[in-house]
Parts: sequence; C-alpha cells; structure tokens
Amino acid sequence: MKDGDSFQQARDEMVIQQLTARGIDDINILEAMRLIPRHEFVPNEVRHLAYRDTPLPIGDSQTISQPYIVAHMSAMLNLNGSERVLEVGTGSGYQTAVLCLLAAEVYSVEVNPRLAERAGDVLAELGFDNVEIYVGDGSVGLPDMATFDAIIVTAAAPALPNPLRGQLSESGGRMVLPVGDERRQHLEVIRRSGNRWQIEEADAVRFVPLVGRYGYPSTTTDLM
Ligand code: SAM
Repeated sequence: MKDGDSFQQARDEMVIQQLTARGIDDINILEAMRLIPRHEFVPNEVRHLAYRDTPLPIGDSQTISQPYIVAHMSAMLNLNGSERVLEVGTGSGYQTAVLCLLAAEVYSVEVNPRLAERAGDVLAELGFDNVEIYVGDGSVGLPDMATFDAIIVTAAAPALPNPLRGQLSESGGRMVLPVGDERRQHLEVIRRSGNRWQIEEADAVRFVPLVGRYGYPSTTTDLM
C-alpha cells in the first residue's frame, strides 16, 4: 500500500497521540495503522472523522471500532506474520486490513451480508489478497477452515463460545474477545496449550453484541 494520501498527516497523528502515547509499541501494528487508509472503510458522511479517537457508525446500527481498541486487541494476539487468523465480526473491514498486514492468512466472518460485501469490496480495491470473507454466524467459528493460530471476536459475547475454543490451534493458539452483558464487558485473552485453556481477564470495554447461536438473542447497539 502506498503512503501519502491527503489523510496521511491525520493518520500519523492518530498513531502518535492515540496509540504510541497509550503504550502500543509493536512496530508492525504502528506501521500497519500508519499505512491503512481508515477513511476508506467508513461511510462518506463520517469520513472527516475517520481518524478521531472514537468508534464511528458504519450503518445497520454497527460500528467501526476505536483505533486504539483495534491496535490493543491486535497486540494481544501477538502475531509474527506466519499465522492463520479467524476474525468474527468483519464490520467495516478495517480490523481485517490490519490483520492482513500482521498475519499470513485471514478468515473473516460477518453476519450482515451488506457489511460483508462492502468490506470485501474495499479490501479488494486496496489490494489485500490474503483474506477470505464469509457471510454467516461467526459465533460457531469456521469449522471447515480450522484450526487457527489466533482468533479475534469484535462483538461482545455473553460467554466464550465453545466452538471457537475448539478451533484454536492446540499449540499456542490465542484468542481475544469481549465477554460480559450487553452494556458492559471486559476483554478476555485465551491461550491454548493441548487441552488446557488459560483465560486472562483484561480491560473493561463496550462492544456491540454478538448475535447468532452463541451470542445474545437481540441486537441493540451504539458502541465500539
Ligand atoms: N472490527 C470491526 C471494524 O473494524 O469495523 C468492527 C466490528 S463491529 C464492532 C461488530 C460486527 O460484528 C458487526 O459488523 C456485526 O454485524 C458483527 N457480528 C455480530 N454478531 C456476529 C456473528 N454471530 N457472526 C459474525 N458477525 C457478527
């Protein structure tokens, strides 16, 4: 991807003021977010806000996550470039793009066909070719493509979905997801070693709800 569109300065400032200043120090994440044109992933009406320190609406009551949250959750996956990654909740496709620059293969599932199509179009236009987008219920994972070295869920789950746990690679698979009730959650980081799953509770967050078999029955939203 080439440098230097008219938002480059806003992007550089986003990286310094929102990411580096809050302790994100993975050079690959900082460089990815300095390069990826976040404004391409949001609707025209909010394009001028694309580099603000906030989530933004992307239509159908869904959101593109705050830049810091994208960086922070990516850092929790500890990617070295060789991994197969599953993302649940493609949304705008921006987090997907970041993962494409940090890992070898990205599989992303979005339940909303309109969002999935738009994200797929933007990613293709920008030249990302190591990603496959699926339309469906990502709360059950992607059994046909499993296992994954890393899994990221970008919608809040009432509990850790069992199928996702099983689709993590047995040797060092890791997952990050928001878990809690529909108003308030915390991030959980899960590490698998054989048939042991170590679960660590991290930051308080507020995400739109995961729907589907292992999600919440309803969808109300206004958040990350
Ligand atoms: N990371 C995304 C970005 O950067 O734009 C933001 C994702 S948004 C906060 C959460 C997304 O999860 C929404 O697009 C929503 O439709 C999707 N979602 C909710 N439940 C889902 C499910 N069961 N399977 C797949 N996607 C789901």
